[in-house]
Amino acid sequence: MSDKSKSEKNMKNQMKFFNTLTREAQPLAPINANEIGLYTCGPTVYSYAHIGNLRTYIFEDILRRVLEKSGYSVKHVMNITDVGHLQSDADEGEDKMEVAARREKKSPWEIAKFFESTFFSDCADLNVQRPHVVCRATEHIPEMIEFVKALEEKGIAYAVDGNVYYDTSKFSSYADFARLDFSQMQEFGRVEQDSRKRNPQDFVLWFSQSKYPNQIMKWDSPWGVGFPGWHIECSAMASKYLGEQFDIHCGGIDHIPVHHTNEIAQSEGRFGHRWVNHWMHGEFLVLDKGKMSKSKGGTLTVATLKELGYDPMHFRYLCLNAHYRSQLKFSYDSLDGARNAYETLQHKQADWAAEPESPLSAQDKKLVADYEGQFWSAMTDDLNAPLALSALWTGLRDDRMSTTAKQALFGTVNEVLGITKPEEEMKLAPELEQLIKDREAARGQKDWKRADELRGKLEDQGILIKDRPNGTDWFVKKNKTSLTP
Ligand code: AMP
Ligand code: ZN
Repeated sequence: MSDKSKSEKNMKNQMKFFNTLTREAQPLAPINANEIGLYTCGPTVYSYAHIGNLRTYIFEDILRRVLEKSGYSVKHVMNITDVGHLQSDADEGEDKMEVAARREKKSPWEIAKFFESTFFSDCADLNVQRPHVVCRATEHIPEMIEFVKALEEKGIAYAVDGNVYYDTSKFSSYADFARLDFSQMQEFGRVEQDSRKRNPQDFVLWFSQSKYPNQIMKWDSPWGVGFPGWHIECSAMASKYLGEQFDIHCGGIDHIPVHHTNEIAQSEGRFGHRWVNHWMHGEFLVLDKGKMSKSKGGTLTVATLKELGYDPMHFRYLCLNAHYRSQLKFSYDSLDGARNAYETLQHKQADWAAEPESPLSAQDKKLVADYEGQFWSAMTDDLNAPLALSALWTGLRDDRMSTTAKQALFGTVNEVLGITKPEEEMKLAPELEQLIKDREAARGQKDWKRADELRGKLEDQGILIKDRPNGTDWFVKKNKTSLTP
Protein backbone atom coordinates (compact mmCIF):
# COMPACT_ATOMS: atom_id res chain seq x y z
CA MET A 1 0.00 0.00 0.00
CA SER A 2 1.40 3.45 -0.93
CA ASP A 3 2.02 6.10 1.74
CA LYS A 4 -0.84 8.14 0.32
CA SER A 5 -3.37 5.32 0.54
CA LYS A 6 -2.12 4.40 4.02
CA SER A 7 -2.63 7.91 5.28
CA GLU A 8 -6.05 8.16 3.58
CA LYS A 9 -7.05 4.91 5.27
CA ASN A 10 -5.97 6.34 8.63
CA MET A 11 -7.95 9.50 8.04
CA LYS A 12 -11.05 7.49 7.17
CA ASN A 13 -10.65 5.32 10.26
CA GLN A 14 -10.25 8.37 12.47
CA MET A 15 -13.32 10.11 11.10
CA LYS A 16 -16.26 10.59 13.47
CA PHE A 17 -19.15 12.91 12.84
CA PHE A 18 -22.15 13.71 15.01
CA ASN A 19 -25.20 11.89 13.66
CA THR A 20 -28.53 13.56 14.38
CA LEU A 21 -30.16 10.15 14.05
CA THR A 22 -28.42 8.77 17.13
CA ARG A 23 -27.32 12.07 18.76
CA GLU A 24 -23.79 10.65 18.93
CA ALA A 25 -20.52 11.14 17.09
CA GLN A 26 -20.13 8.06 14.90
CA PRO A 27 -17.71 6.73 12.31
CA LEU A 28 -18.92 6.76 8.74
CA ALA A 29 -19.89 3.41 7.36
CA PRO A 30 -20.07 4.02 3.61
CA ILE A 31 -22.48 1.84 1.68
CA ASN A 32 -19.89 1.44 -1.10
CA ALA A 33 -16.29 1.44 0.06
CA ASN A 34 -14.49 4.68 -0.83
CA GLU A 35 -17.63 6.37 -2.10
CA ILE A 36 -19.94 8.79 -0.34
CA GLY A 37 -23.38 9.87 -1.50
CA LEU A 38 -24.01 13.32 -0.05
CA TYR A 39 -27.28 15.23 -0.26
CA THR A 40 -27.54 18.80 0.97
CA CYS A 41 -30.85 20.66 1.02
CA GLY A 42 -30.50 23.61 -1.32
CA PRO A 43 -31.88 27.13 -1.38
CA THR A 44 -35.45 28.24 -1.91
CA VAL A 45 -34.81 30.69 -4.70
CA TYR A 46 -37.26 33.49 -3.95
CA SER A 47 -34.74 35.91 -2.48
CA TYR A 48 -31.01 36.45 -1.94
CA ALA A 49 -29.42 33.87 0.35
CA HIS A 50 -28.55 35.48 3.68
CA ILE A 51 -25.25 34.88 5.43
CA GLY A 52 -27.02 32.47 7.81
CA ASN A 53 -28.01 30.24 4.89
CA LEU A 54 -24.50 30.59 3.54
CA ARG A 55 -22.96 29.49 6.83
CA THR A 56 -24.75 26.17 6.30
CA TYR A 57 -23.38 25.83 2.75
CA ILE A 58 -19.87 26.63 4.00
CA PHE A 59 -20.14 23.87 6.63
CA GLU A 60 -21.29 21.43 3.94
CA ASP A 61 -18.45 22.49 1.66
CA ILE A 62 -15.91 21.81 4.42
CA LEU A 63 -17.47 18.41 5.03
CA ARG A 64 -17.15 17.55 1.34
CA ARG A 65 -13.52 18.71 1.23
CA VAL A 66 -12.63 16.61 4.29
CA LEU A 67 -14.22 13.56 2.71
CA GLU A 68 -12.43 14.14 -0.57
CA LYS A 69 -9.09 14.77 1.09
CA SER A 70 -9.46 11.43 2.86
CA GLY A 71 -9.74 9.71 -0.48
CA TYR A 72 -13.51 9.28 -0.79
CA SER A 73 -15.06 9.97 -4.11
CA VAL A 74 -18.04 12.06 -3.19
CA LYS A 75 -21.18 12.45 -5.24
CA HIS A 76 -22.72 15.67 -3.99
CA VAL A 77 -26.34 16.37 -4.89
CA MET A 78 -28.27 19.52 -4.07
CA ASN A 79 -31.81 20.56 -4.89
CA ILE A 80 -33.04 23.98 -5.90
CA THR A 81 -36.46 24.63 -4.39
CA ASP A 82 -38.22 26.62 -7.07
CA VAL A 83 -41.78 25.58 -6.20
CA GLY A 84 -43.80 24.26 -3.27
CA HIS A 85 -42.14 25.91 -0.26
CA LEU A 86 -44.99 27.66 1.50
CA GLN A 87 -44.56 30.63 3.80
CA SER A 88 -44.63 28.32 6.81
CA ASP A 89 -42.72 25.04 6.72
CA ALA A 90 -45.89 23.26 7.84
CA ASP A 91 -48.27 23.63 4.88
CA GLU A 92 -49.46 27.10 5.80
CA GLY A 93 -49.48 30.22 3.64
CA GLU A 94 -48.73 30.83 -0.01
CA ASP A 95 -45.88 29.51 -2.16
CA LYS A 96 -42.84 31.74 -1.49
CA MET A 97 -42.05 31.88 -5.22
CA GLU A 98 -45.49 33.26 -6.08
CA VAL A 99 -45.30 35.94 -3.37
CA ALA A 100 -41.88 37.06 -4.64
CA ALA A 101 -43.11 37.06 -8.26
CA ARG A 102 -45.97 39.40 -7.37
CA ARG A 103 -43.69 41.64 -5.34
CA GLU A 104 -41.13 41.92 -8.15
CA LYS A 105 -43.72 41.97 -10.96
CA LYS A 106 -41.98 39.06 -12.66
CA SER A 107 -42.92 35.45 -13.35
CA PRO A 108 -41.99 32.87 -10.69
CA TRP A 109 -39.72 31.29 -13.33
CA GLU A 110 -37.80 34.54 -13.77
CA ILE A 111 -37.52 34.93 -10.00
CA ALA A 112 -36.18 31.39 -9.66
CA LYS A 113 -33.62 31.83 -12.44
CA PHE A 114 -32.37 35.12 -11.03
CA PHE A 115 -31.98 33.98 -7.42
CA GLU A 116 -30.47 30.65 -8.40
CA SER A 117 -27.76 32.54 -10.23
CA THR A 118 -27.15 35.00 -7.37
CA PHE A 119 -26.91 32.00 -5.03
CA PHE A 120 -24.18 30.35 -7.10
CA SER A 121 -22.30 33.58 -7.52
CA ASP A 122 -22.38 34.05 -3.71
CA CYS A 123 -21.08 30.49 -3.36
CA ALA A 124 -18.25 31.21 -5.81
CA ASP A 125 -17.37 34.35 -3.82
CA LEU A 126 -17.21 32.19 -0.70
CA ASN A 127 -15.13 29.43 -2.32
CA VAL A 128 -18.03 26.98 -1.87
CA GLN A 129 -17.76 24.28 -4.52
CA ARG A 130 -20.66 23.59 -6.86
CA PRO A 131 -22.39 20.25 -6.17
CA HIS A 132 -21.91 17.57 -8.80
CA VAL A 133 -25.65 17.40 -9.37
CA VAL A 134 -27.88 20.45 -8.99
CA CYS A 135 -31.52 19.49 -9.46
CA ARG A 136 -34.48 21.82 -9.71
CA ALA A 137 -37.81 20.80 -8.20
CA THR A 138 -39.73 22.07 -11.24
CA GLU A 139 -37.74 19.72 -13.48
CA HIS A 140 -38.63 16.64 -11.41
CA ILE A 141 -42.40 16.78 -11.19
CA PRO A 142 -42.90 13.30 -12.80
CA GLU A 143 -40.53 11.75 -10.22
CA MET A 144 -42.50 13.40 -7.40
CA ILE A 145 -45.84 12.24 -8.81
CA GLU A 146 -44.47 8.72 -9.06
CA PHE A 147 -43.29 8.92 -5.44
CA VAL A 148 -46.69 10.09 -4.21
CA LYS A 149 -48.43 7.37 -6.24
CA ALA A 150 -46.19 4.75 -4.62
CA LEU A 151 -47.08 6.04 -1.14
CA GLU A 152 -50.75 6.02 -2.05
CA GLU A 153 -50.51 2.43 -3.30
CA LYS A 154 -48.90 1.41 -0.02
CA GLY A 155 -51.77 3.02 1.89
CA ILE A 156 -49.49 5.61 3.54
CA ALA A 157 -50.95 8.54 1.62
CA TYR A 158 -54.58 9.54 1.10
CA ALA A 159 -56.25 11.91 -1.33
CA VAL A 160 -59.05 14.27 -0.28
CA ASP A 161 -60.58 16.83 -2.68
CA GLY A 162 -57.53 16.75 -4.95
CA ASN A 163 -54.93 17.17 -2.19
CA VAL A 164 -52.77 14.23 -1.20
CA TYR A 165 -51.64 13.88 2.41
CA TYR A 166 -49.07 11.73 4.14
CA ASP A 167 -50.72 9.65 6.86
CA THR A 168 -48.26 9.97 9.75
CA SER A 169 -50.20 7.42 11.80
CA LYS A 170 -48.97 4.78 9.32
CA PHE A 171 -45.32 5.53 10.05
CA SER A 172 -44.83 4.51 13.64
CA SER A 173 -41.40 6.06 14.07
CA TYR A 174 -42.55 9.47 12.77
CA ALA A 175 -41.64 11.31 15.99
CA ASP A 176 -38.28 9.59 16.55
CA PHE A 177 -35.86 11.63 14.45
CA ALA A 178 -36.72 14.97 16.02
CA ARG A 179 -37.69 13.42 19.39
CA LEU A 180 -41.12 15.02 18.95
CA ASP A 181 -43.61 14.79 21.77
CA PHE A 182 -47.02 15.50 20.33
CA SER A 183 -48.76 15.51 23.69
CA GLN A 184 -46.70 18.58 24.62
CA MET A 185 -46.69 20.30 21.29
CA GLN A 186 -48.86 23.38 20.98
CA GLU A 187 -47.71 23.90 17.39
CA PHE A 188 -50.27 21.71 15.71
CA GLY A 189 -53.14 23.06 17.78
CA ARG A 190 -52.21 26.66 17.15
CA VAL A 191 -52.26 26.75 13.37
CA GLU A 192 -55.52 26.74 11.56
CA GLN A 193 -56.20 23.08 10.87
CA ASP A 194 -56.86 21.76 7.41
CA SER A 195 -60.02 19.73 8.05
CA ARG A 196 -59.04 17.28 5.30
CA LYS A 197 -56.13 15.97 7.40
CA ARG A 198 -56.70 12.75 9.33
CA ASN A 199 -54.04 13.58 11.92
CA PRO A 200 -52.86 17.06 12.89
CA GLN A 201 -49.25 16.30 11.94
CA ASP A 202 -50.11 14.87 8.48
CA PHE A 203 -48.58 16.92 5.70
CA VAL A 204 -49.31 17.67 2.07
CA LEU A 205 -47.62 15.71 -0.72
CA TRP A 206 -49.58 17.25 -3.58
CA PHE A 207 -51.76 20.37 -3.60
CA SER A 208 -54.59 20.65 -6.11
CA GLN A 209 -56.65 22.68 -3.68
CA SER A 210 -55.06 25.52 -1.84
CA LYS A 211 -56.26 28.80 -0.43
CA TYR A 212 -54.45 30.44 -3.34
CA PRO A 213 -56.08 29.18 -6.55
CA ASN A 214 -54.08 31.54 -8.79
CA GLN A 215 -50.81 29.66 -8.40
CA ILE A 216 -48.92 30.12 -11.67
CA MET A 217 -46.60 27.14 -11.37
CA LYS A 218 -48.82 24.08 -11.71
CA TRP A 219 -48.87 20.69 -13.38
CA ASP A 220 -51.34 18.00 -14.26
CA SER A 221 -51.43 15.01 -11.91
CA PRO A 222 -53.66 12.01 -11.14
CA TRP A 223 -55.24 14.12 -8.35
CA GLY A 224 -55.83 17.32 -10.30
CA VAL A 225 -53.83 20.29 -11.57
CA GLY A 226 -51.57 21.53 -8.83
CA PHE A 227 -48.09 21.52 -7.36
CA PRO A 228 -45.97 19.35 -5.07
CA GLY A 229 -45.45 19.80 -1.35
CA TRP A 230 -41.98 20.99 -0.37
CA HIS A 231 -40.76 17.85 1.38
CA ILE A 232 -41.48 15.41 -1.45
CA GLU A 233 -38.96 17.09 -3.76
CA CYS A 234 -36.00 16.10 -1.60
CA SER A 235 -37.18 12.51 -1.17
CA ALA A 236 -37.79 12.14 -4.91
CA MET A 237 -34.60 13.82 -6.12
CA ALA A 238 -32.22 12.44 -3.50
CA SER A 239 -33.39 8.90 -4.27
CA LYS A 240 -33.21 9.49 -8.01
CA TYR A 241 -29.57 10.59 -7.89
CA LEU A 242 -28.25 8.70 -4.86
CA GLY A 243 -30.44 5.60 -4.67
CA GLU A 244 -32.88 4.24 -2.11
CA GLN A 245 -30.24 4.39 0.61
CA PHE A 246 -27.29 6.75 0.84
CA ASP A 247 -24.61 7.96 3.21
CA ILE A 248 -24.98 11.57 4.36
CA HIS A 249 -27.76 14.14 4.33
CA CYS A 250 -27.21 17.69 5.60
CA GLY A 251 -29.05 20.91 6.29
CA GLY A 252 -29.56 23.54 8.95
CA ILE A 253 -30.98 22.53 12.35
CA ASP A 254 -34.33 24.15 11.58
CA HIS A 255 -34.93 21.27 9.18
CA ILE A 256 -34.91 18.59 11.88
CA PRO A 257 -38.48 18.81 13.22
CA VAL A 258 -40.42 19.29 9.98
CA HIS A 259 -38.61 19.03 6.66
CA HIS A 260 -36.21 16.18 7.44
CA THR A 261 -38.72 14.40 9.66
CA ASN A 262 -41.09 14.43 6.70
CA GLU A 263 -38.40 13.44 4.19
CA ILE A 264 -37.63 10.39 6.34
CA ALA A 265 -41.31 9.48 6.70
CA GLN A 266 -41.83 9.66 2.93
CA SER A 267 -38.69 7.80 1.92
CA GLU A 268 -38.64 5.11 4.58
CA GLY A 269 -42.40 4.76 4.20
CA ARG A 270 -41.91 4.06 0.51
CA PHE A 271 -38.75 1.95 0.57
CA GLY A 272 -39.43 0.11 3.81
CA HIS A 273 -35.88 0.49 5.14
CA ARG A 274 -33.37 3.01 6.48
CA TRP A 275 -32.94 5.82 3.93
CA VAL A 276 -29.96 7.87 5.14
CA ASN A 277 -27.24 6.58 7.44
CA HIS A 278 -25.74 9.81 8.69
CA TRP A 279 -27.64 13.08 9.21
CA MET A 280 -25.61 16.21 9.86
CA HIS A 281 -27.06 19.59 10.81
CA GLY A 282 -25.42 22.98 11.07
CA GLU A 283 -26.36 25.37 13.89
CA PHE A 284 -27.68 28.82 13.10
CA LEU A 285 -25.89 32.05 12.55
CA VAL A 286 -27.74 34.69 14.52
CA LEU A 287 -27.67 38.43 14.62
CA ASP A 288 -27.54 40.20 17.95
CA LYS A 289 -31.29 40.61 17.77
CA GLY A 290 -31.90 36.92 17.13
CA LYS A 291 -32.67 34.60 14.26
CA MET A 292 -31.99 35.78 10.73
CA SER A 293 -34.89 35.10 8.43
CA LYS A 294 -35.15 35.49 4.68
CA SER A 295 -38.89 35.96 4.85
CA LYS A 296 -39.05 38.28 7.87
CA GLY A 297 -36.24 40.65 6.86
CA GLY A 298 -33.30 41.67 9.04
CA THR A 299 -30.96 39.74 6.78
CA LEU A 300 -27.40 40.32 5.69
CA THR A 301 -26.22 39.18 2.31
CA VAL A 302 -22.89 38.77 0.56
CA ALA A 303 -23.73 41.93 -1.40
CA THR A 304 -24.11 43.86 1.89
CA LEU A 305 -20.71 42.66 3.07
CA LYS A 306 -19.11 43.66 -0.23
CA GLU A 307 -20.71 47.10 -0.08
CA LEU A 308 -19.11 47.53 3.34
CA GLY A 309 -15.69 46.72 1.88
CA TYR A 310 -15.38 43.13 3.10
CA ASP A 311 -14.30 40.24 0.95
CA PRO A 312 -16.84 37.38 1.28
CA MET A 313 -13.81 35.23 2.16
CA HIS A 314 -13.57 37.14 5.46
CA PHE A 315 -16.98 35.72 6.26
CA ARG A 316 -15.83 32.21 5.32
CA TYR A 317 -12.92 32.59 7.74
CA LEU A 318 -15.32 33.81 10.44
CA CYS A 319 -17.40 30.65 9.98
CA LEU A 320 -14.30 28.47 10.34
CA ASN A 321 -13.70 30.05 13.73
CA ALA A 322 -16.86 28.49 15.16
CA HIS A 323 -17.78 24.82 15.39
CA TYR A 324 -20.58 24.02 12.96
CA ARG A 325 -22.76 22.70 15.79
CA SER A 326 -22.42 25.90 17.85
CA GLN A 327 -24.48 28.95 17.28
CA LEU A 328 -22.48 31.75 15.68
CA LYS A 329 -23.38 35.23 16.81
CA PHE A 330 -22.54 37.60 13.99
CA SER A 331 -20.89 40.93 14.77
CA TYR A 332 -18.79 43.30 12.70
CA ASP A 333 -16.07 43.14 15.38
CA SER A 334 -15.69 39.43 14.87
CA LEU A 335 -15.81 39.90 11.09
CA ASP A 336 -12.99 42.46 11.42
CA GLY A 337 -11.02 39.91 13.44
CA ALA A 338 -11.56 37.35 10.68
CA ARG A 339 -10.45 39.89 8.08
CA ASN A 340 -7.20 40.53 9.99
CA ALA A 341 -6.41 36.84 10.22
CA TYR A 342 -7.26 36.32 6.56
CA GLU A 343 -5.09 39.22 5.42
CA THR A 344 -2.19 38.02 7.56
CA LEU A 345 -2.41 34.67 5.79
CA GLN A 346 -2.57 36.38 2.41
CA HIS A 347 0.55 38.41 3.24
CA LYS A 348 2.33 35.28 4.35
CA GLN A 349 1.38 33.52 1.13
CA ALA A 350 2.74 36.43 -0.88
CA ASP A 351 5.99 36.48 1.15
CA TRP A 352 6.48 32.72 0.83
CA ALA A 353 5.99 32.92 -2.92
CA ALA A 354 8.77 35.49 -3.12
CA GLU A 355 11.34 33.29 -1.40
CA PRO A 356 13.40 30.79 -3.36
CA GLU A 357 12.18 27.22 -2.89
CA SER A 358 14.25 25.02 -0.62
CA PRO A 359 13.79 21.32 0.08
CA LEU A 360 12.23 20.22 3.38
CA SER A 361 14.80 19.16 5.99
CA ALA A 362 14.23 16.05 8.10
CA GLN A 363 13.16 18.28 11.01
CA ASP A 364 10.75 20.16 8.72
CA LYS A 365 9.21 16.90 7.56
CA LYS A 366 8.63 15.80 11.13
CA LEU A 367 7.17 19.13 12.21
CA VAL A 368 4.88 19.35 9.18
CA ALA A 369 3.68 15.81 9.82
CA ASP A 370 3.02 16.68 13.50
CA TYR A 371 1.03 19.81 12.73
CA GLU A 372 -0.84 18.14 9.88
CA GLY A 373 -1.63 15.30 12.28
CA GLN A 374 -3.07 17.77 14.81
CA PHE A 375 -5.02 19.45 12.04
CA TRP A 376 -6.46 16.14 10.87
CA SER A 377 -7.33 14.93 14.35
CA ALA A 378 -9.38 18.08 14.80
CA MET A 379 -11.11 17.91 11.42
CA THR A 380 -11.91 14.22 11.68
CA ASP A 381 -13.30 14.79 15.19
CA ASP A 382 -16.66 16.11 14.03
CA LEU A 383 -15.17 18.84 11.85
CA ASN A 384 -13.58 20.83 14.64
CA ALA A 385 -12.39 23.66 12.41
CA PRO A 386 -11.55 26.13 15.22
CA LEU A 387 -9.17 23.60 16.79
CA ALA A 388 -7.77 22.74 13.35
CA LEU A 389 -7.09 26.42 12.71
CA SER A 390 -5.25 26.76 15.98
CA ALA A 391 -2.95 23.91 14.91
CA LEU A 392 -2.24 25.86 11.73
CA TRP A 393 -1.42 29.09 13.58
CA THR A 394 0.82 27.30 16.09
CA GLY A 395 2.69 25.78 13.16
CA LEU A 396 3.04 29.11 11.39
CA ARG A 397 4.44 30.70 14.56
CA ASP A 398 6.89 27.87 15.20
CA ASP A 399 10.41 29.22 14.58
CA ARG A 400 11.72 25.72 13.96
CA MET A 401 9.64 25.52 10.78
CA SER A 402 11.30 26.76 7.59
CA THR A 403 9.36 28.87 5.11
CA THR A 404 8.92 25.85 2.86
CA ALA A 405 7.56 23.85 5.78
CA LYS A 406 5.07 26.58 6.67
CA GLN A 407 4.04 26.79 3.06
CA ALA A 408 3.51 23.03 2.92
CA LEU A 409 1.40 23.04 6.10
CA PHE A 410 -0.70 25.93 4.86
CA GLY A 411 -1.16 24.19 1.50
CA THR A 412 -2.68 21.12 3.16
CA VAL A 413 -4.90 23.15 5.46
CA ASN A 414 -6.01 25.42 2.66
CA GLU A 415 -7.04 22.52 0.46
CA VAL A 416 -9.42 21.35 3.17
CA LEU A 417 -10.65 24.62 4.64
CA GLY A 418 -10.57 26.64 1.42
CA ILE A 419 -9.35 29.70 3.34
CA THR A 420 -8.00 31.47 0.27
CA LYS A 421 -9.06 30.90 -3.30
CA PRO A 422 -6.83 29.25 -5.85
CA GLU A 423 -4.80 31.97 -7.55
CA GLU A 424 -6.03 31.38 -11.06
CA GLU A 425 -9.51 32.42 -9.98
CA MET A 426 -8.23 35.90 -9.17
CA LYS A 427 -8.17 37.99 -12.31
CA LEU A 428 -7.75 41.70 -12.37
CA ALA A 429 -9.96 44.04 -14.28
CA PRO A 430 -8.06 45.44 -17.31
CA GLU A 431 -7.86 48.99 -15.88
CA LEU A 432 -6.13 47.66 -12.74
CA GLU A 433 -3.73 45.61 -14.83
CA GLN A 434 -2.90 48.79 -16.73
CA LEU A 435 -2.16 50.65 -13.48
CA ILE A 436 0.29 47.91 -12.49
CA LYS A 437 2.00 48.11 -15.88
CA ASP A 438 2.21 51.94 -15.66
CA ARG A 439 3.78 51.61 -12.22
CA GLU A 440 6.34 49.12 -13.47
CA ALA A 441 7.20 51.52 -16.28
CA ALA A 442 7.56 54.40 -13.79
CA ARG A 443 9.88 52.28 -11.66
CA GLY A 444 11.87 51.39 -14.78
CA GLN A 445 12.40 55.12 -15.34
CA LYS A 446 13.22 55.56 -11.63
CA ASP A 447 10.21 57.90 -11.31
CA TRP A 448 9.59 56.88 -7.69
CA LYS A 449 7.06 59.63 -7.06
CA ARG A 450 4.80 58.45 -9.89
CA ALA A 451 5.33 54.79 -8.87
CA ASP A 452 4.21 55.60 -5.31
CA GLU A 453 1.21 57.51 -6.59
CA LEU A 454 0.15 54.52 -8.66
CA ARG A 455 0.71 52.17 -5.72
CA GLY A 456 -1.62 54.42 -3.68
CA LYS A 457 -4.27 54.28 -6.42
CA LEU A 458 -4.09 50.51 -6.52
CA GLU A 459 -4.31 50.25 -2.73
CA ASP A 460 -7.39 52.47 -2.77
CA GLN A 461 -8.96 49.87 -5.02
CA GLY A 462 -8.00 47.04 -2.72
CA ILE A 463 -4.88 45.81 -4.55
CA LEU A 464 -1.68 45.40 -2.57
CA ILE A 465 1.60 45.47 -4.44
CA LYS A 466 4.76 43.51 -3.66
CA ASP A 467 7.91 44.23 -5.63
CA ARG A 468 9.92 41.14 -6.49
CA PRO A 469 13.33 40.84 -8.11
CA ASN A 470 11.64 39.54 -11.27
CA GLY A 471 8.61 41.83 -11.42
CA THR A 472 5.56 42.97 -9.51
CA ASP A 473 3.18 40.74 -7.57
CA TRP A 474 -0.27 41.84 -6.50
CA PHE A 475 -2.92 40.50 -4.22
CA VAL A 476 -6.39 41.49 -3.22
CA LYS A 477 -6.87 43.32 0.02
CA LYS A 478 -10.55 44.08 -0.30
CA ASN A 479 -13.21 42.86 -2.61
CA LYS A 480 -14.14 45.57 -5.06
CA THR A 481 -16.55 45.50 -7.93
CA SER A 482 -13.74 46.33 -10.34
CA LEU A 483 -12.32 42.87 -9.81
CA THR A 484 -13.57 40.23 -12.15
CA PRO A 485 -14.13 36.74 -10.65
P1 AMP B 1 -33.79 28.00 2.70
O1 AMP B 1 -33.28 28.70 1.47
O2 AMP B 1 -34.63 28.91 3.57
O3 AMP B 1 -34.51 26.72 2.35
O4 AMP B 1 -32.53 27.61 3.60
C1 AMP B 1 -31.33 27.14 3.08
C2 AMP B 1 -30.47 26.52 4.15
O5 AMP B 1 -30.08 27.49 5.14
C3 AMP B 1 -31.14 25.40 4.94
O6 AMP B 1 -30.22 24.35 5.13
C4 AMP B 1 -31.50 26.05 6.27
O7 AMP B 1 -31.56 25.09 7.30
C5 AMP B 1 -30.32 26.98 6.46
N1 AMP B 1 -30.55 28.15 7.32
C6 AMP B 1 -31.64 28.96 7.38
N2 AMP B 1 -31.45 29.97 8.26
C7 AMP B 1 -30.19 29.82 8.78
C8 AMP B 1 -29.39 30.54 9.73
N3 AMP B 1 -29.81 31.65 10.31
N4 AMP B 1 -28.15 30.06 10.01
C9 AMP B 1 -27.69 28.94 9.40
N5 AMP B 1 -28.38 28.23 8.50
C10 AMP B 1 -29.63 28.66 8.17
ZN1 ZN C 1 -34.59 19.03 1.69
